[in-house]
Amino acid sequence: MELSGFLGNSGVKTALSGAFAAGRFPHAVVFQGEPGTGRHTLARLVAQALVCRDKAKAPCGSCPSCLRALAGSHPDIRVVEGKTDSGAITVEQVQELAADAQRMPDESDYNVYILSFGDRVMDAPQNKLLKLIEEPPRGAVFLLVCRRAQSLLPTIRSRAQAFQLMPPEEAEAAQWLAAHTGTAPEEARKLASLCGGNLGRMQDELENGGAKRAAETAQAIALALPGRGAHGLLAATAPLLKDRELCRQTLSRLETIFRDALVLRCGGKTLLGGAPEAADRLADLPVKQLAQLPGLAEEARQNLERNANTSLLITQFCAALREAVGRS
Ligand SMILES: [Zn+2]
Repeated sequence: MELSGFLGNSGVKTALSGAFAAGRFPHAVVFQGEPGTGRHTLARLVAQALVCRDKAKAPCGSCPSCLRALAGSHPDIRVVEGKTDSGAITVEQVQELAADAQRMPDESDYNVYILSFGDRVMDAPQNKLLKLIEEPPRGAVFLLVCRRAQSLLPTIRSRAQAFQLMPPEEAEAAQWLAAHTGTAPEEARKLASLCGGNLGRMQDELENGGAKRAAETAQAIALALPGRGAHGLLAATAPLLKDRELCRQTLSRLETIFRDALVLRCGGKTLLGGAPEAADRLADLPVKQLAQLPGLAEEARQNLERNANTSLLITQFCAALREAVGRS
């Protein structure tokens, strides 16, 4: 089993590969670890390897079985996820699974079931599952994903092989992020250090953390703009001086808040910027002043794309904003 594409966790990979090569892959495996450590990624990779047609290179990534596994449409791989609010798997879901496991695999040697347990693991569904794991139908492999194996019944644990997943080394995680998302190496290293190499959290931070900071910064700028002195605006824009990405996202959000304020001022109601309080306060300004603001934000954003010096750009932007609202 070729698992080198999965970062870190060399002991886990060696054990899984060894068992597969020896033809004694366990019929029940637990992948435990914190969210973001790649539990589901590894479960999917193992499932793909089990159905792959090229046993020597499994998962080869290019045979029809691998392609279907990658597309999530392989008939011998089933993913069971909790349907309840707490993410818990229900008795009915395990019953369906039990019925399904009695059939012969459609295309491969295995019926692979990935069971993704939420934070709450109920006893009743586990007891149903236990019967299945005690006397597994031929070819059935159960890959259980959870945060802590301790949350599973001891009877399940004793019949499954559990593997603890850990984040890879921070340097390795940073390198992966830079290569796969185009994040600048310096930024990738910062994220790796912030998240302790947890790739899931790094990606989440990259996608949402930046967006959240940008939303907060844009709102602070919009709220500070009508103030009398220049100090409030300078303080609100300070986080942008050294962070180009934050600057780009904040300017874009600010443009929307400015447009919202103009819409409100003109009697409209549809707001897009997600900062109604700031838009509302700006809407007290005269239309003539307000109308200039979106263009200023857009111009600053374009200058940023043209690689202008960030701190100079922000200083000029603040001056232009204050002039537009008659505060210079
Ligand atoms: Zn393959």
